[in-house]
Amino acid sequence: MKLKLTADLMFGKNIDETKDFLEGLLAEFNKKMVKEKVGVEKWFINNNTLTLTVTSEGKRRAHEVLLQLRKTLSEQMGKKYRVGVRNIKTKRYEITFEVEKKPLQQIKVPFAEVSIKNRIVKLVLEEIDEEFLRKNYVDRIIKRVKEKIDAQYYEGKKEYWELIWESEQKEPLWDKDPSEEMQKLGWIVLLGKGKWFYRPPAAAIMRAMERIALENIVQPLGFKEVIEPMHVSFETWLRTGHLEGMPGEIYYICEPKSRDPAEWERFIDLVKITKEVPSEELVKNLKPPRDGVVYAQCPNIYASMRGKTIAEEDLPLLLFEHYVPSNRYESGGKHGIERVDEFHRIEIVYIGRKEQLVELRDRLIESYKHVFNNILELEWRMARVTPFYMQQAGIVGSEEEKSKGTIDFEAWLPYRGDRSKEWLEFQNISIVGEKYTKAFNIKGQKSELWSGCSGVGLERWMVSFLAQKGLNPDNWPKGFKKYLPELPEMPKFL
Ligand code: ATP
Ligand code: ZN
Ligand code: MG
Repeated sequence: MKLKLTADLMFGKNIDETKDFLEGLLAEFNKKMVKEKVGVEKWFINNNTLTLTVTSEGKRRAHEVLLQLRKTLSEQMGKKYRVGVRNIKTKRYEITFEVEKKPLQQIKVPFAEVSIKNRIVKLVLEEIDEEFLRKNYVDRIIKRVKEKIDAQYYEGKKEYWELIWESEQKEPLWDKDPSEEMQKLGWIVLLGKGKWFYRPPAAAIMRAMERIALENIVQPLGFKEVIEPMHVSFETWLRTGHLEGMPGEIYYICEPKSRDPAEWERFIDLVKITKEVPSEELVKNLKPPRDGVVYAQCPNIYASMRGKTIAEEDLPLLLFEHYVPSNRYESGGKHGIERVDEFHRIEIVYIGRKEQLVELRDRLIESYKHVFNNILELEWRMARVTPFYMQQAGIVGSEEEKSKGTIDFEAWLPYRGDRSKEWLEFQNISIVGEKYTKAFNIKGQKSELWSGCSGVGLERWMVSFLAQKGLNPDNWPKGFKKYLPELPEMPKFL
């Protein structure tokens, strides 16, 4: 990597007189930095400003060197002339580096002009302030460019998918779409985009699914209930990475600027007169969002334990949440109750030593198997899945991947067609290693902590079951009927 940074160092007063002294300081500085392949070049003084260029071909970033130089100069000049550097203004920062793969398309990144020739990338940044340098945005810009080049190579490629277990085939009892049929019966009603109202029969089925999960998996394995808020702060999502991962799937929350009716007077007038919502007037009365609605329950669980050290005897710590629904903006991808904007999940979270989590995962899988084989009697399978970028890093098949990583649970949806391809992910189990325990600074007394989670999607359990077993309770497996002996009646609408 080659770095070239031109900046103005503004002193508290005119420094024309100090030229010889400065020359000495810079020469000394350069001598010290030779073996780091760093140097100060082309410098001159104008009134209170020292303009100079720092170059680096070594490990040190030119801006780090500049900040160090600022400190040295302020100290030395302070002693001799009672003057220090007040301010730094960067005029131009050129960064040239080689990448492993030739970019397939032009790349854009904020703050920098990017030009690329074969595998050489050149970034030019102009007029950036000291905070920008201090906070090390520069390294993150370089990282982002590399990420974007990698992404060009795996764009459109499927995630790695490896079957690890499958049930026997089970003859489906029908081949209809359960959401459509429930809608015809009035069991479910669409209320707004991707949001369903569950009338008594549908609600009872979903609650039965929930009891099955709680009584056969969550409680026997020792998970304890927590209840979390429905709002997730941006601070939490900055730590988990959701704001860079899926900003387009989040439902954002705005607070009112004020709860004073006087501030809302015009809005109220317009509503009363037009009987419509004046969106422009509304937006004027709202603050920009700082939170969003729960996307998955685990981030708030980690946030609640930020900075804590967990007692050794409490490991693994086993928690679950099933109070808040999850919201996701699925846009065009919605279908029936299986891909919705608001859904209900039990999410279990486990924090412990690596070997504890690996063992727990095996026990979880055994309990899930019992439910899907003996209670719901599903045709289902498990697959180890790895996003494409991890395949690139050679993580597939490694020991690391076998302990970390995600297992998807899938069920065949006969209404969609062919058994060879029409499967729906209805839940998953993940072990994420130290990603979140690190992000939230959650520690063990002695041991390094890993964590993971498993999301039980109640709508997806329900669709998988109903798609294979139909809506007639007479045909449902005995094991399931124990949890729902009778379906509540529908209200009669005339
Ligand atoms: P998909 O690939 O289907 O979008 P995902 O990878 O986004 O799923 P996760 O974030 O892993 O899903 O969430 C875990 C579980 O949450 C899923 O297995 C599923 O049960 C449920 N789930 C996720 N998105 C939805 C949705 N839009 N509607 C209903 N359930 C969902
Ligand atoms: Zn989670
Ligand atoms: Mg999704």
